[in-house]
Amino acid sequence: MDFHILTLLPEMVENALETSVLGRAVEEGIIRINAVNIRDFSAEKHHKVDDYPYGGGAGMLMQAQPVYDAWKSITDRTGKDVRCIYMTPQGRVFSQQMAKEFALEEELIFLCGRYEGVDERVLEEIVTDEVSIGDYVLTGGELPAMVMIDAISRMIPGVLHNEESAEGDSFGDGLLEYPQYSRPEIWNGKAVPKILLSGDHAKVDAWRREQSLIRTADRRPDLLESAHVSPKEKAFIENYLANKKDR
Ligand code: SAM
Repeated sequence: MDFHILTLLPEMVENALETSVLGRAVEEGIIRINAVNIRDFSAEKHHKVDDYPYGGGAGMLMQAQPVYDAWKSITDRTGKDVRCIYMTPQGRVFSQQMAKEFALEEELIFLCGRYEGVDERVLEEIVTDEVSIGDYVLTGGELPAMVMIDAISRMIPGVLHNEESAEGDSFGDGLLEYPQYSRPEIWNGKAVPKILLSGDHAKVDAWRREQSLIRTADRRPDLLESAHVSPKEKAFIENYLANKKDR
């Protein structure tokens, strides 16, 4: 998978994405990170890429021309329609499901805004998807693009090795993950739940599933509406919540 990132801060993106698990995936040739400096495409003498917004108001805007030319430098090379994602607090909120869908693409372009954002006309021209990472405003689209690239990469076969498996992760089946424990058996007076030491895999799986259901009901009940939950499990949750209320 090729990730092309249109940005004013290419070093920020390259440094962060070329370490740890993603860095290894780059070395193994499973993903490629291509940070494109929008400033290199400015037609202005001093490589200016921003200007005042028409109609007044605070701040500066990224101009259409350098953004368009930076985008075109990629699409001219790839010669096919590549989805171009504009990172914006006004977009659809990113989710694990979206990460899975984007992971099916061979290439993706991310457009990272700075200042007060980007001239609307170039957005209309090149953007296929507008994505937000949450209801708050950041200073630029680089961190949001990195968040997306990290989550998407984990869904690409071969990026995670066995010991980092995505199996059982939160949101995988619409539920939060169960609590986990490692050595020692007793730490700070707290013991690991006995069932995890039993060696009975069926029982461990059943306990983990129950814990996932309880956790999701407690912390993110909104997820239960679209999670894959059997009628028996639904009854288990209702019972758990009724008992909790009585306590
Ligand atoms: N004036 C814009 C608005 O109110 O919608 C916000 C501009 S923000 C200061 C600058 C850039 O940061 C945006 O163009 C966008 O690329 C990025 N950004 C900020 N918050 C974001 C979020 N929650 N999700 C995705 N991108 C975000």
